[in-house]
Amino acid sequence: MSRDTPSVETAPTDRHGEALVSVRDLEKHYDTGVSLLDRLLGGGSNPVRAVDGVSFDINRGETLGLVGESGCGKSTVGQTILRLESPTAGSVSFDGDPLAERGDLTGFRRNAQILFQDPFSSLDPRMPVGESVRQPLEIHDWPWDGQGNPAERRHERVAELIERVGLSTTQLDRYPGEFSGGQLQRIGIARALALDPDFVVLDEPTSALDVSVQAQVLNLLADLQSEFDLTYLFISHDLGVIRYICDRIAVMYLGEIVETAPAEQLFTDPRHPYTEALLESVPRVDLQERERDIDPLAGDVPSPRNPPSGCRFRTRCPAVIPPDGLDIEQESFRAITDVRDRIADREIAVETTRDALAETTEGEPGEERVAARLYDRLVDVELPEPERRRVQEGLQAVAAGEWDRAAEHLRERYESVCETDHPTGQVSCHLFEQ
Ligand code: ADP
Ligand code: MG
Repeated sequence: MSRDTPSVETAPTDRHGEALVSVRDLEKHYDTGVSLLDRLLGGGSNPVRAVDGVSFDINRGETLGLVGESGCGKSTVGQTILRLESPTAGSVSFDGDPLAERGDLTGFRRNAQILFQDPFSSLDPRMPVGESVRQPLEIHDWPWDGQGNPAERRHERVAELIERVGLSTTQLDRYPGEFSGGQLQRIGIARALALDPDFVVLDEPTSALDVSVQAQVLNLLADLQSEFDLTYLFISHDLGVIRYICDRIAVMYLGEIVETAPAEQLFTDPRHPYTEALLESVPRVDLQERERDIDPLAGDVPSPRNPPSGCRFRTRCPAVIPPDGLDIEQESFRAITDVRDRIADREIAVETTRDALAETTEGEPGEERVAARLYDRLVDVELPEPERRRVQEGLQAVAAGEWDRAAEHLRERYESVCETDHPTGQVSCHLFEQ
């Protein structure tokens, strides 16, 4: 409810629960040059699929959390919603109105603000902080009711804001360099709220702050939310922070949202294997070091230029579904999947292995021996028959340089629904689609 609305005609109706922001099939791809890392990861000259088809609503008055590992596309979602970046595809509606492809975004820009992670770089170091807070008022020609002297009204507004975030008006003439990180973030908050927005994207707002100050800033954000009826999109890689402040949480992986749930439910009953892995990877004080030596999120995040087919998490997932009729332990299936991934990426050092064998024996080692050595190196679990034989056959083809035949031989028997089909359910995982 806007505080400027005369209350006589528009009795305050509670619009909580209605969508303020609706995001549909939003995509943001970046066409950029190819880095060496991308070439190594096999992405070629494909665009970076930073955000690759996400849909969600943010309801009035709520805080929606967006969580996921670094690089999964969280900031790009925030910036694309706010049109700081233009979307490649998809739509965003604000308060029921679709944002036009082109056209006037002035009203939207007043109403939708962003607070960045790094308070040091988001404020101009050569500008007194009072001026930084006043700047949006000037850009948008506030006050809009035309009453009083604009300069005085702005002066009062800045004073009111700076005190509301816990600082003093005597500090308005100082420069950013004279403040601590926590104080600067408070100034950033004052600036973001200057135009009395409805919606604020908070992009890792406490990640750059000392732990001791994080809670104070989070509390301030929570107080301001109820006081000014704000709607937040809260972006963070830190599940502890997310849990503290969010009503609902969306989990992102490689440009997609894999699961959305009310905050408590996500923590007590995570559904997607990625969500589970994220939760397990949070350091917990009650766990002994030795119990934590298994990293649930082991393995590299694939390149967003060349994401895996089917379910994007399948290359790291501890719960990949074996094909129908193949009765196999998850650990064994995982080992076979790893060999297949290496074959697909041609990431098996055949020549090194052959040379090492040649040094210990007379003459060229045969393919069978090379394959046996590769098997010992690559498979560290006891595979049952006939899987053991099949994987050895695959590696024998690799030793003969026939990578495609090796890949095909293993694909025929081990291809999983996780690899062939993109999951589409509310929880984006084939385990929940039956
Ligand atoms: P997060 O905020 O989750 O850490 P980002 O949204 O910043 O992730 O980035 C998602 C992906 O998009 C990353 O692979 C990142 O390198 C890439 N990316 C972000 N911004 C750009 C850009 N301006 N140009 C090219 N790639 C970008
Ligand atoms: Mg980010």
